[in-house]
Amino acid sequence: MLEAANINKSFNGVQVLNDISLEIDSGKILCIVGPSGAGKTTLLRIITGLEKPDSGSFKIDGQSFNPQANETDEAMIGVVFQDFRLFPHLSVLENITLAPQMVLHQSKKAAQENANNILDQLGLADKADIYPFQLSGGQKQRVAIARALALKPKILCYDEPTSALDPGLRGSVAQMIERFKAQGMTQIVVTHDIDFAKEIADKILEVKPNQEL
Ligand code: ATP
Repeated sequence: MLEAANINKSFNGVQVLNDISLEIDSGKILCIVGPSGAGKTTLLRIITGLEKPDSGSFKIDGQSFNPQANETDEAMIGVVFQDFRLFPHLSVLENITLAPQMVLHQSKKAAQENANNILDQLGLADKADIYPFQLSGGQKQRVAIARALALKPKILCYDEPTSALDPGLRGSVAQMIERFKAQGMTQIVVTHDIDFAKEIADKILEVKPNQEL
């Protein structure tokens, strides 16, 4: 279980997150919703350690946890960015195997075996040797998900997973998230799409813009 308590964050004196607390049980899906500018991405960046909160605390499975600290070699929380952020000069396989070798100290062979298994599960087995520019948007997203999964995170987070895709792919993203849930993955999804959130979420956290607080 992930717990975040009393998260506050201001930028240049303007408070974006005001005392936000959340809890998500293992294997469940939490959707973070709210209008543009409400602070959803900022909250996700704080949870994934990319941004430092002004105050607040975190626990995973009851143990206090600092998302910014790299104390362990385990990637606790994986993230799939809205714009995927694949490395353009690396093949699909290299995109997925780089971090496991560097962070988890896996051998190249072990990282490749694991990556090929994940690619297989995500229907991308034939894409291993091509480059990001040769992929469709939906395929890029699945590679970004494969890259996050290769680090064996306890929690997988997505920032607006439907917004950069053709509307027709919305259903397949929902199915993929449901499939990971069936496999026991804990997931946090930032979305402005309330219908999508209602479809997939076990729990919804609404982040309100500052002026409405
Ligand atoms: P959207 O749905 O449009 O992506 P959001 O709810 O994810 O919006 P955030 O991206 O978290 O909102 O931004 C919340 C507010 O914080 C915005 O007013 C934004 O300008 C501000 N903000 C975010 N990051 C920074 C930063 N690094 N420096 C200054 N202001 C920032």
